[in-house]
Amino acid sequence: MIESMRFVHDTLPQRVCFGSGEAAANLRREITGLGASRVMLIGSKSGLRAADEEITAGLPVALRYDEVVMHVPVEVAERARAAAAEHDVDALVSVGGGSTTGLAKAIALTAGLPIVAVPTTYSGSEATPVWGLTEGARKTTGVDLRVLPKAIVYDAALTTSLPVELSVASGLNALAHCVDAMWGPSADPINAALAAEGIRSLAAGLPQVAAAPEGLDGREHTLYAAYLSAAAFASAGSGLHHKICHVLGGAYNLPHAQTHATVLPYVLAFNGPAAPDAERRIAAAFGAATALDGLLALKRQLDAPRALRDYGLAQDAIAAAADAILPSVPPSNPRPVTAADLRTLLRAAWSGADPATVF
Ligand code: NAD
Repeated sequence: MIESMRFVHDTLPQRVCFGSGEAAANLRREITGLGASRVMLIGSKSGLRAADEEITAGLPVALRYDEVVMHVPVEVAERARAAAAEHDVDALVSVGGGSTTGLAKAIALTAGLPIVAVPTTYSGSEATPVWGLTEGARKTTGVDLRVLPKAIVYDAALTTSLPVELSVASGLNALAHCVDAMWGPSADPINAALAAEGIRSLAAGLPQVAAAPEGLDGREHTLYAAYLSAAAFASAGSGLHHKICHVLGGAYNLPHAQTHATVLPYVLAFNGPAAPDAERRIAAAFGAATALDGLLALKRQLDAPRALRDYGLAQDAIAAAADAILPSVPPSNPRPVTAADLRTLLRAAWSGADPATVF
């Protein structure tokens, strides 16, 4: 909670280059600045095709790599690391969503190579030092400054091809970073300021993206917010919301962004009344009477994901999921959390019940 004005805040060393239509020029400048001469260009097949020629012309590309898999399976990471070593690359450029950035991070983690990230979704992975790998059904994450991209090249024009449904889910994933940053274990007033501006910009940008997916204005607001959300979240650490989604994504293989979009209002309904400062800041950022009113109005406007049962969670998995989540709940959560609370929250999120009536 953000009540004390005593805090220690780490600001991450990273350059942010923002400009629609400027990815090629910004990328060239950043790679030149790093003194790199053998770049490994990483992107999913669809991502690379969309951006490839346009933004990578003039780069010293030694290897194009497109085996990108969500949640970075260890064997996929091992193959990519071997390819990087075999081609003697000296810098990594990732063009794509969180999965692509995640693969670049997995290589950087062991090879110590610098990353320049060109994000094409709103996942925000590019602005965090968090890496993730999966082995079987088990996802491991860690924090290491070696995986923090040296530079981010944001170009909203590269995101216009992201389908509206995915854009909405991904944008709400960014919103979840903002909300959780308000009460994460290391929450502080700087994170809260970044997060509030992120919420304001998402609330302005996402409806425009849904209404005019090709338009740059909404895309720029949303991409800018994606950065703010991740910077705030990286500093504040995972709060209750991310602990819940981490278990749901890892153990039940639910889709990342949609799971965040569905669960967030229930966590806000649970925590909001016990976190008056966060509640006030979030409500103000939405321009709404309460934080939950603002979030629900935005979700209605966007026709956003509503129920976990739509994404493959079985109802009889809820009790075990609650038990798996409980030990990871941060002790600093604004209110105590019991297994029964988690079951109530998950049952409501599973069925899509009105979050305002659950707690
Ligand atoms: P993603 O990267 O898997 O992309 C989703 C889909 O969208 C893919 O099929 C991709 O090819 C496609 N796509 C991406 N950009 C596109 C574009 N501009 N146009 C058309 N299609 C496009 O999904 P994501 O939600 O961006 O990232 C999810 C992953 O990132 C998860 O593994 C999650 O754990 C990780 N993540 C990590 C952090 C972190 O800090 N380490 C933060 C957020 C997310």
